[in-house]
Amino acid sequence: IPLFGGIQGSLQSFMGAVPAFARTADMRRRLRAAAEARPDAPAAVELRDALKLEGVCFGYEDGRRTLRDLDLTVEAGSTAALVGPSGAGKSTVADLVSGLLAPTEGAVLVDGRPLVGGARGSWRDRIGYVAQETFLFNDTVRSNLLWARPDANEEELVGALDQAAARKFVAGLPDGLETRLGDRGVRLSGGERQRLALARALLRRPSLLILDEATSALDSENERRVLDAVEGLRGRLTILLITHRLSAARFADVVHVLENGELVESGEPDALLAGDGGRFAAFCEAQGIRAPGSLDALRRPPV
Ligand code: ATP
Repeated sequence: IPLFGGIQGSLQSFMGAVPAFARTADMRRRLRAAAEARPDAPAAVELRDALKLEGVCFGYEDGRRTLRDLDLTVEAGSTAALVGPSGAGKSTVADLVSGLLAPTEGAVLVDGRPLVGGARGSWRDRIGYVAQETFLFNDTVRSNLLWARPDANEEELVGALDQAAARKFVAGLPDGLETRLGDRGVRLSGGERQRLALARALLRRPSLLILDEATSALDSENERRVLDAVEGLRGRLTILLITHRLSAARFADVVHVLENGELVESGEPDALLAGDGGRFAAFCEAQGIRAPGSLDALRRPPV
């Protein structure tokens, strides 16, 4: 579910409560200007340098430590993969880097600035998030996309669909963007839903795109389509791929292996694979990849 917060979030929830006839562009402009002029309005948080977790510990209320002393850096513009077994704490890391959770100890820093107070809410607006399950309204494709950013124009909508490799299948729907989805409308395949979710996340022009097991429920053909779209985004924005599948980690610049709440290995995928007895190498071996260089088979799949 896309994350709303901060000024934009309050504005969006407020707009949701205003009768439709009052929702004019002019009113929206005035509200936004007023919100921006507020002296306590947090400055927008951007990601230009790096996102860092420094000495982060986290525990849910049951008293157990889910994450222990985590140091992790995601360089701006890079694609990082966070891999590890179920229950390792990967989704908890995602919630910390997106500002949904605050660390019990340590700090999450965006360009050196701690994610605390207003900066946390403001940063949440900069996140594009695609989860394993995508929520779509029983409404048109257009409305489902605009939910992420009501003021997006046609060019931006089409651009986001394009980047998510969803333009063609949407154009092929009975009424294109006006096609109704859901119970009384068109049912999309899992892969199509995820590509719409990706388009919706991209429409927010995120500084950080998080894919949390976004392709885990898909068959290999659909997974490849979604991952090819994500691969096309490499270098255009900062991407954090959370996965227990090797196929999704294949094009990461850096892989981080998380086990039992601890970071046990970090590095370039090929270098980690070449290392003897490493955790990533074991992870690859468990998924049928043994020799260095054989990740290329995943990167350039036969057509
Ligand atoms: P998976 O791949 O299965 O999603 P994960 O690596 O993402 O696992 P997390 O979902 O971050 O792992 O969970 C890490 C640990 O924290 C697990 O032991 C889990 O049971 C626990 N946990 C997760 N969410 C909560 C919560 N809201 N309250 C209490 N414990 C939680």
